[in-house]
Amino acid sequence: MYTSRAFSTLPDRYLSMTTMTSSHTDSNHPQNKESLRPSIVPFIGLHIACLGILWTGFTVESLLLCAALYVVRVFGITAGYHRLLAHRSFKAGRVTQFLIVMAGAMSLQRGPLWWAAKHREHHRDSDTPADAHSPRHFGFMGAHMGWIFRPRYKADLNLIRDFAQYPELRWLEKNQYLPGMALGVACYLLGGWDAFFVGYCLSTVLVYHVTFMINSLAHVFGRQRFLTGDDSRNNAVLAVLAMGEGWHNNHHYYPSTARAGFRWYEIDMTYYVLWTLSKFGLVWDLRQPPQSVLRGTKAPTTRIIDLTAGHLASAFCMDELSQRIRTAWADSHHMDELKQRARQARESVETYLADIDLPHLPTIEELRALARRKFADVPALEDVVQRAHARLVAGVSERLTRDLVPQTA
Ligand SMILES: [Zn+2]
Ligand SMILES: [Zn+2]
Repeated sequence: MYTSRAFSTLPDRYLSMTTMTSSHTDSNHPQNKESLRPSIVPFIGLHIACLGILWTGFTVESLLLCAALYVVRVFGITAGYHRLLAHRSFKAGRVTQFLIVMAGAMSLQRGPLWWAAKHREHHRDSDTPADAHSPRHFGFMGAHMGWIFRPRYKADLNLIRDFAQYPELRWLEKNQYLPGMALGVACYLLGGWDAFFVGYCLSTVLVYHVTFMINSLAHVFGRQRFLTGDDSRNNAVLAVLAMGEGWHNNHHYYPSTARAGFRWYEIDMTYYVLWTLSKFGLVWDLRQPPQSVLRGTKAPTTRIIDLTAGHLASAFCMDELSQRIRTAWADSHHMDELKQRARQARESVETYLADIDLPHLPTIEELRALARRKFADVPALEDVVQRAHARLVAGVSERLTRDLVPQTA
């Protein structure tokens, strides 16, 4: 557990990085303008660099290196960035923690604190407009990689204060490109250009996309075992590629567990490695899903039921349904009845508001005095005053009641 004292030892840079939450994006904020360029450069650069394979071709050694760097770095992301930093689903000593997180940092997916904070935002805002990478709101490609080019790429680092207390993780955050770049240089120096292009560049690009597929594919294709109020899915193919993270609906249902595969046949390589490391005492307290979760008997909250109901209803277009009903009722008494009831309801509100003493509304006498100053004092002026008062009551009552009836669309 972190303490407020631990916070006070953090550099101001970390404590004041309330850059934005995803729901409060301000693209004019100076820190947001400091922007994404450095992260986009390696992302685009490594894709282009893969063209070097056309020149070197593949060798068995370079392919083995590619596979090894893929596995090590996917594990660094899934176990280090995700299950440890974002979800605190197990514990590790400082050295082990640093090494696992370092493996994630070699993926060039920005710093561990940024990544974990962004992921905590994802669970908080899943598939709402505030979620930076929701396919529901930004389309498949927008969720897959388009979001990293947008201002909401910024994360609220206050969400990761617990791990920001470790100087070595802050160092990694500050030098977030160093491990990835050093790995690239090492591949070239030790193995030549084919080790660099195939072993390093290709595996980095694959790690990018398999990670991004959890944001895109795992919220679009697959099955939903649990009601989670979002679009998360279980996808077996992705579970193999992403070392267990494809059991994404399980994970959204109960995010704080070290396991994403809840059943024996749900392959979760990240968990198997963590379990093995726990046998050597390198990690411990691997959090397990409770029996109620495994059996699926944990009752969903009212919020989740509401969100799920909203998603179900959104399969239909309210405007179109209303138009169809209006057309079907064109020659029936239903529309007349509806109009009459709506009018009665409005009149009832206006009568109530006219009868009570509305603060701030000008009185008849004040309107009369104003009218006499503005217009000729003719007999019809009293009519003008009365109607102006009625208009003010009607206008204010419409505005006062506008937000009182919940909108269903
Ligand atoms: Zn998700
Ligand atoms: Zn998560």
